Amino acid sequence: MVIKTDVLIIGGGPAGSYLARYLVRNGFNGDVMLIDKKSVIYAPIICGELLPSEDLLKPWINRDLYNVLLTTLRETLRREFIVNEIRWLRLVINNRDIARMPFRTYVIDKAAMIRNIIEDVINGGAKVHFGATAIKCAVKGDGYECLVHDKDGGEYVINARALIGADAYPSIVDLSLGITKGFRAEDLIIATSTRARGKYLDDEAVIVMDRG
Ligand SMILES: Cc1cc2nc3c(=O)[nH]c(=O)nc-3n(C[C@H](O)[C@H](O)[C@H](O)COP(=O)(O)OP(=O)(O)OC[C@H]3O[C@@H](n4cnc5c(N)ncnc54)[C@H](O)[C@@H]3O)c2cc1C
Repeated sequence: MVIKTDVLIIGGGPAGSYLARYLVRNGFNGDVMLIDKKSVIYAPIICGELLPSEDLLKPWINRDLYNVLLTTLRETLRREFIVNEIRWLRLVINNRDIARMPFRTYVIDKAAMIRNIIEDVINGGAKVHFGATAIKCAVKGDGYECLVHDKDGGEYVINARALIGADAYPSIVDLSLGITKGFRAEDLIIATSTRARGKYLDDEAVIVMDRG
């Protein structure tokens, strides 16, 4: 089977989903398709789910980028996705309190936030396929062709005029098209995350570092 679209976005994380919504909301004149290898929209999540407040960003980011980030935050971070408002950051190293500083951030429910963006994308008329893994992409004519495997063992090809690689490391789009030279082993670290459930009313985030 061959599917044709104007824009193919691979990866439905924050980058891909936001771009898809931007296109459908801002009168992009063409078909938008978004695929993601996860079967469920943005789950499981590997992320601390901490987002900066506008105040925290302002002194550190140049004005043009700040305005873009501000728009993104305001369009995306609705009150119902905020799990906790953080005001302080405490740093503990080897069991000793080292510092406590103001740190206005939000702990968010990132999966719910992304789900909301993707619902806007679907309602805006884009095609969204979850459980769809891009295997390789290549230049074809003046566009691109990607081979996709679906979660049920089927495969299909998507032809697109424009291709967006929002599939993070190790990006298939990047690797297949040789956009960057990839990473060396020493550029990488292993990251894991675990989720604690409950009602947390504290307004303090704690960073703990020790040998363990
Ligand atoms: C442990 C950890 C903690 C973090 N904590 C924070 C934090 O507290 N605050 C913060 O702001 N950021 C945090 N980050 C960073 C944040 O998660 C990333 O910056 C952000 O998710 C990047 O968004 P993205 O859309 O570029 O990529 P991703 O969120 O990685 O999304 C990429 C998407 O592409 C899909 N995909 C990949 N390959 C394919 C393929 N071949 N075919 C189809 N789909 C594909 C994936 O399933 C995924 O849904 C953390 C990251 C880690 C690892």
